Amino acid sequence: MDAIFGISLTSIMLSLIALVAIIFLLLAVIMWRNPLLVRIGLRNVVRRKVQTTLIVIGLMLSTLIISAAFATGDTVGYSITNDLFNQLEEVDFVIVGSGAAGGVIAKQLAVAGFSVVVLEQGPRIEAHEFRHDEYETFWGGSYSNQPSTQPQSFKAGPDAPVEPGGGTFATGMNGVGYHRLVGGGSVMFTSNYWRFKPIDFMERSVLGAIPGTGLEDWPITYEELEPYYTQAEWDLGVSGEPGPFDPYRSRPYPLPPLPVKSSGVLFERGARALGLNPQVAPMCIISEPYKGRSACQHCGYCAGFGCEHRSKSSTLFTTIPDAEATGRCEIRADSYVSQIAMNPQGRTTGVLYFDADRVEHLQRARAVIVCANGAETPRLLLNSHTSRFPDGLANSSGHVGKYLMFNGNAGTNGVFERPLNEWKSVMVTRMIWDYYDSDPARGFYGGGGIDARFWGGYPIFFGLGDYLPPGSPMWGREFRRLLSHNYSRTMNADVHTTSLPVETNRIEIDPDLVDDWGLPCFRVTYKDHPDDLAMLAFLAQVATDIMDEAGAIETWKPYMCASSVLARTQPDVLSPQTIRLSMRRWLRWAISGVPKNALGRSLRNTVSSGCGAKASWIS
Ligand SMILES: Cc1cc2nc3c(=O)[nH]c(=O)nc-3n(C[C@H](O)[C@H](O)[C@H](O)COP(=O)(O)OP(=O)(O)OC[C@H]3O[C@@H](n4cnc5c(N)ncnc54)[C@H](O)[C@@H]3O)c2cc1C
Ligand code: SF4
Repeated sequence: MDAIFGISLTSIMLSLIALVAIIFLLLAVIMWRNPLLVRIGLRNVVRRKVQTTLIVIGLMLSTLIISAAFATGDTVGYSITNDLFNQLEEVDFVIVGSGAAGGVIAKQLAVAGFSVVVLEQGPRIEAHEFRHDEYETFWGGSYSNQPSTQPQSFKAGPDAPVEPGGGTFATGMNGVGYHRLVGGGSVMFTSNYWRFKPIDFMERSVLGAIPGTGLEDWPITYEELEPYYTQAEWDLGVSGEPGPFDPYRSRPYPLPPLPVKSSGVLFERGARALGLNPQVAPMCIISEPYKGRSACQHCGYCAGFGCEHRSKSSTLFTTIPDAEATGRCEIRADSYVSQIAMNPQGRTTGVLYFDADRVEHLQRARAVIVCANGAETPRLLLNSHTSRFPDGLANSSGHVGKYLMFNGNAGTNGVFERPLNEWKSVMVTRMIWDYYDSDPARGFYGGGGIDARFWGGYPIFFGLGDYLPPGSPMWGREFRRLLSHNYSRTMNADVHTTSLPVETNRIEIDPDLVDDWGLPCFRVTYKDHPDDLAMLAFLAQVATDIMDEAGAIETWKPYMCASSVLARTQPDVLSPQTIRLSMRRWLRWAISGVPKNALGRSLRNTVSSGCGAKASWIS
């Protein structure tokens, strides 16, 4: 038995010793020239001796308590809250962040017999609470990091001026956005579930150095990682079928492919006409009932939304409940970690975090695992600096936050003669990997894939985004006719490319910016390597060729956006162009009947769709 009523025996012992110390010191004070003691004849010399002894014992006991508190990591003044564990009880692991990474590790550790507390800054949302509310999701930024409470700053290169970093994807969202709820990005993601290929782990050895970059091999190989890929696919539930360029897999996909969509059929036709090899897109969505969850209901509100049917295999519906079922894992939502706590010996003792009422607590743990994504992980490590680790934790290399990489994104939109009804079902069903590997013959580094989808499949998004062909009227009868005709006839081929590791591209702490909790915020510095832009342009042209061969009556390239240069052209500040653009869009809203109260918010965001380093989802 090491606890009584959830309070550890160490804490009880420390409290008792503190009480005795206080009693001894109080007695010493009482004896100080006490007239009663003088009257009963206690001689001054005896009284002083007793008094000195009491003070010495009291001070010794106090020193003992302070040292014990330091050694065990207890910090005076933090309150106790508890569900499964309380903070004074030292758990084996604290995990910061419950997303794609944290949710998986929680299960592995809990199943292996360890006690685990997962601290997640966002709320826990149950399946029945997810809504198909486009406005709230994309413009309100629900369940995302918010510029109003957690701002960030941006530099378009090491020598560029510092700019505000928010409000590009939608008014309510930060430039570098991520999902902020139990399950993290895995709840809302598109669900493409690509594996890396063996070449990804040894590109430096195969291709050599690339000037201006820190390209290195991974310290592990694909073969070493393969069993874990397989376990993840079976734990979560992934639907697919191996394609011609797939790496070796030790087990088949756990579920058959999802039904092909119109975009997939047309994409396949166009790609084959070019001599390419289209394949089934592996998706982290279940095509058949699996482990107590129902198959995808093809509701159409998929990428960017939570799945009320629990068919999207997010950690929220898979590994997290599995971890909790062990009775050894507690998911503590609304818990924002501010610092990793360290003892004087340089060992972690747990983490400090704010609860929903912004009261600070210490959760004690033997080890801390930080799974707070590509932006918040370096921020937390850098903010946890101590006199012993002045440059932040785990940063003896000085590399924390550096070599930031985003995946490049470009695409081609196309309108077809007949309805495709792409607003149904999941986002992606077909893709190509023909250009995945880097090919020196192209004259630049890089590789990637293209998938068939329709990002504009949500009606408000379609009406306000760049989903009508260039030159289309922005209001009036023809605008309405185009909206109604094209909505069901448009699709896009979406390009995803590599991003090179450049040392000056980084997450660092902004010296002047603090969030609502008083914690220093992060700053993003990003400028593309020229090869990244060349690769994007190359694959964007392939995407256009595929759409043309598929029979599109009109194609256009609306975005190509890994670049901070492109990001700077985003209409996220009230420049004259932004205001003109916003006014045109406001007219669209006015005419197409979107609620007017959205106007004020629409002024700071119009067309951008998560493109550019300044408006990126962190992966
Ligand atoms: C719209 C969208 C579509 C995507 N589509 C795909 C796709 O098709 N395929 C693909 O492979 N990837 C996709 N991604 C990317 C993918 O979601 C991320 O790569 C993945 O979720 C990253 O996992 P993670 O665990 O590192 O971080 P996250 O999933 O972001 O989880 C981190 C968690 O930590 C929490 N956190 C952060 N800081 C703290 C703190 N201080 N205290 C407590 N909690 C904290 C966050 O709130 C968050 O819940 C997509 C992302 C988005 C947003
Ligand atoms: S399309 Fe399928 S997986 Fe996606 S949210 Fe709807 S039901 Fe869930």
